[in-house]
Amino acid sequence: MVGTGLGAEHGILIKGGEHLELAHKVNTVVLDKTGTITAGKPSVIDVWSAEAASEADLVRLAAALEAQSEHPLGRAIVEYARERGGVWPEASEVRAVPGKGIEANIDGHVVRVGNRRWIAEELYIQVPDERLAAYESEAKTAVIVASDDQIMGVIAIADAVKPDAKQAVERLRAMGIDVWMVTGDNERTAEAVASQVGIDHVMASVLPQDKVGKVAELKRRGSVVAMVGDGINDAPALAEADIGIAMGTGTDIAMEAADIALMRSNLMGVVNAIELSKATMRKIRQNLFWAFFYNVIGIPLAAAGILNPMIAGAAMALSSVSVVSNSLLLKGRRFD
Ligand code: ADP
Ligand code: MG
Repeated sequence: MVGTGLGAEHGILIKGGEHLELAHKVNTVVLDKTGTITAGKPSVIDVWSAEAASEADLVRLAAALEAQSEHPLGRAIVEYARERGGVWPEASEVRAVPGKGIEANIDGHVVRVGNRRWIAEELYIQVPDERLAAYESEAKTAVIVASDDQIMGVIAIADAVKPDAKQAVERLRAMGIDVWMVTGDNERTAEAVASQVGIDHVMASVLPQDKVGKVAELKRRGSVVAMVGDGINDAPALAEADIGIAMGTGTDIAMEAADIALMRSNLMGVVNAIELSKATMRKIRQNLFWAFFYNVIGIPLAAAGILNPMIAGAAMALSSVSVVSNSLLLKGRRFD
């Protein structure tokens, strides 16, 4: 009770005592990229258009599709198009493909906006790599725009890492915890973000429905896994993990699926939640010691008639008082 109360005071909402008792055993933390390690507010940084289109055309085309999308990348593109005049053609038969992109019909053309792998699958064409490499090695997400079987251009989108992400990863590693990143984004962008925050285990190009499998795989290898995420696509993985931790700025379904919800969306909350669990478990062990210690000494003495019954009664009560007082000492603990 003191542990969960203290957590709540620090913006760490724990949905039950069992999660607090398990979290100290965590030896593997899996972090979602977008919205968890990064701020989740991506913005368009650069636009490159192939010869067939102007930059303005390209942005309009992409915005026509993304106006129907709820994806953060989509919102970034729409916002960018709005800032630049904001009229775009009518798109019909819009279809979002989770973890890949979005497609629609515009003036009789099939237009697609999405990642390289998906475009290559759909169009049987290789996307020119130099342009993408330049963006991705700078941790930007390169979104490709294609009309029928022609590449119209690339939109580079960046999402800054949270200011405390690096420190949080360092602290987790200092606790002996393996830190993983899992993302639907491509390998190069994922690696670039991972190196910015000091993560060396990266699982990239993971489709939304496969994140849960990655968590299950780590569990099978014997790890006690905490998954940290914010999106709809993280919810199954949050439920599968030994401990699911949701970011407070995340979707309702992520909060629902998680065991611990962080009211602030900074990553130090993850460190604090695990430290709180450790501190709570230490208290529980101390309390067990004091409870048994009194009884182990007191009961034989009382049975042998050596202990005055009044003193025995007082000792009995004192053991409870010591346990409660010791627990309340936890309240003095401060977290970053
Ligand atoms: P994350 O795991 O980072 O939240 P998602 O699984 O949502 O990522 O998406 C994976 C990738 O699929 C994105 O990095 C992007 O390349 C592509 N993608 C998905 N939806 C869209 C969209 N609406 N517009 C453009 N690209 C998209
Ligand atoms: Mg996310």
